[in-house]
Amino acid sequence: MQTRLADWIQDTPQGREADAILRKCVHCGFCLATCPTYVLLGDELDSPRGRIYLMKQMLEGAPVTVRTQLHLDRCLTCRACETTCPSGVEYGRLVDIGRDLIEQKVERSAVDRAQRWMLRKVLPSRALFAALLGLGRLFKPLLPSSLARKIPARGDVGAWPEARHARRMLVLTGCVQPSLAPSINAATARVLDRLGISLIEAPRAGCCGAVTFHLNAQDEALGYMKANIDAWWPHVEAGAEAIVITASGCGTMVAEYGHLLRDDPEYAHKAERVSRLAKDVSEVIAAERASLAKLLSPASRGVPRKVAFHAPCSLQHGLKIEGVVEPILRDLGFDLTMVPDAHLCCGSAGTYSILQSELSGRLLENKVNALESGAPDLIATANIGCLAHIGAAASRPIRHWIELVDEATTAARRG
Ligand code: SF4
Ligand code: SF4
Repeated sequence: MQTRLADWIQDTPQGREADAILRKCVHCGFCLATCPTYVLLGDELDSPRGRIYLMKQMLEGAPVTVRTQLHLDRCLTCRACETTCPSGVEYGRLVDIGRDLIEQKVERSAVDRAQRWMLRKVLPSRALFAALLGLGRLFKPLLPSSLARKIPARGDVGAWPEARHARRMLVLTGCVQPSLAPSINAATARVLDRLGISLIEAPRAGCCGAVTFHLNAQDEALGYMKANIDAWWPHVEAGAEAIVITASGCGTMVAEYGHLLRDDPEYAHKAERVSRLAKDVSEVIAAERASLAKLLSPASRGVPRKVAFHAPCSLQHGLKIEGVVEPILRDLGFDLTMVPDAHLCCGSAGTYSILQSELSGRLLENKVNALESGAPDLIATANIGCLAHIGAAASRPIRHWIELVDEATTAARRG
């Protein structure tokens, strides 16, 4: 695609990066069929190619309106288009740049601004979110069923083993996950402990910054990233092998720390190292699969159960991790059911389910039907956002897959 960027942007880092991405697009349209919003709405402007045109026009100096902003807002940032694109167009980076620029050019309504501000303040704050979730649980019987379904019951967390091994890995604590499903990181700690690895938390680390970043407060998000780097750095220098991330949505954000902080003289080097150390828990377990097999016993497998695996967009399109979790689930004795249209987003997508609730609801309905079409006993996934979103609508229980590994290895130890 030929471009002629406007004077105000062409010699900036954002302009140069956007220009290089735009020039890769050859208008072929292969990406349309795998874009969830195009599949639902059938409008070219709600497709990757249409949005690329809109961003090109803005970068070339054409006036932008709320209409352009709406089409970018409707994008889930699922990055299915990147997986499909034969030309390697980094759509996710482009839309981040496009949204940042449009936020400065088009003023949102007061209601929209207030809603986004609230989300930016509540979700990344562990204490605030925990307090609100506690209130939600207290008053759950009085809430409308549509809201009550989204509030999970308090589950059993189990013990977090003492750090006793020479091999150590950090874990991202996150923001909403410790309140919604603290069992996920605790299960990860137990599984890794059995594999001879101690999992440790850095107390001052918190939200990865994704919520804030994707609400177009990108400078604010860099603050969360730097705080995490500061909290992790002493452990990195002490030899932590990896930074384990159990929510693939957070994993895609941490993987980008190095890129986003590349021009920061104080943090560039550390951010690049942190991004290299960041590993989705599936990558860590896959590397230890032979040792994991020794922890399993035929008795631990029990009667094979049918599981539908929901691969989050952040796992398959963001981190490009495909076909890694499924063999681990088979090792545990599960039968995996077929899931049609597994590349399509469930509609969770960070705050999308709140800000674009109608589209999100349609995607959720399609996803639950697809997941349940093989009559599974349970659904497994790899991201807290998808887990909470799908869990509110599915008729089957939904778990993080690492919890299933924890249960199987616990059962094997008991004989
Ligand atoms: S990121 Fe997802 S929703 Fe956005 S344009 Fe690409 S495929 Fe469509
Ligand atoms: S598939 Fe890639 S090259 Fe083709 S239109 Fe989509 S983004 Fe452009």
